[in-house]
Amino acid sequence: MNYRHAYHAGNHADVLKHIVLARVIEHLKKKDKPFRVIDAHAGTGLYDLSGIEAGKTGEWEGGIGRLAEPFAPEIEALLQPYREVIDALNSGGLTLYPGSPELALRLMRTGDALLANELHAEDAMALERHVTGEPRARVTALDAETCIKAHLPPPERRGLVLIDPPYEAKNEAEKATRMLGHGLRRFATGVFLLWYPLKADDIAAGIIAEVEAMKVAATLRVELRVREAFAGGGLAGSGLLILNTPWRLDSELQLILPALAQRLGLGNWGHGLVEWLVPPK
Ligand code: SAM
Repeated sequence: MNYRHAYHAGNHADVLKHIVLARVIEHLKKKDKPFRVIDAHAGTGLYDLSGIEAGKTGEWEGGIGRLAEPFAPEIEALLQPYREVIDALNSGGLTLYPGSPELALRLMRTGDALLANELHAEDAMALERHVTGEPRARVTALDAETCIKAHLPPPERRGLVLIDPPYEAKNEAEKATRMLGHGLRRFATGVFLLWYPLKADDIAAGIIAEVEAMKVAATLRVELRVREAFAGGGLAGSGLLILNTPWRLDSELQLILPALAQRLGLGNWGHGLVEWLVPPK
């Protein structure tokens, strides 16, 4: 396992994933009943954008670094929860960026719960230290697939599951859709978010086809492309498949994605996509 998220925190893919995550949590908060966030690939929780790792790649500068200027008011209203978390971590300037567990904890209510799982031993320890004293959070250091099998369905019977692998190993796409299948069998009503990379390979197409075949009503495909994909050229964008999409999240993302694509896209390459892979019933 070579992947360390500290090199990539706050990049365009994190911006897309975290904006969607924040919107899903806001939708879950519309009902009083508590929910649980199961973050199967959690990372460390908080990232220092002035640190060595982030400085080596500078990826955040093409992501959260480009969001300083406000968007149109109707878009800002939707981004407010995400923005508020980042503002609360930074007093003026931008040095700290929240990972998915930190974002979830800051948006969740008193009775909601977080299960944050991270396999990398050092990162799991950093995450454990980070959430020390937070009664709503529990950290595990399992393989994500084992975590999903062990912890679904959640006792609250409401919640979201984030599947966010690094796709370093050859079998990781296959494993990601397999764990989604396991998760759905155990927790059919849960909101599942599956992240995938857009590169000059067929990983995204394979994942999308597999998930479409699962035929889960209200499966939304959301993609943010920022540059041309070419062999050896790395991440050209990213996508999320949202299963059991909360009502009206699609129209919110229809507003947000073109604005993000325009802001984060290089040259004319910026492109946002929001479409039903399987429509709601
Ligand atoms: N979800 C995080 C966020 O949004 O802030 C970022 C996660 S990062 C893309 C992927 C994480 O998965 C890395 O921290 C990596 O160590 C971890 N990881 C890799 N293989 C794993 C596995 N089999 N099970 C659980 N975690 C794994």
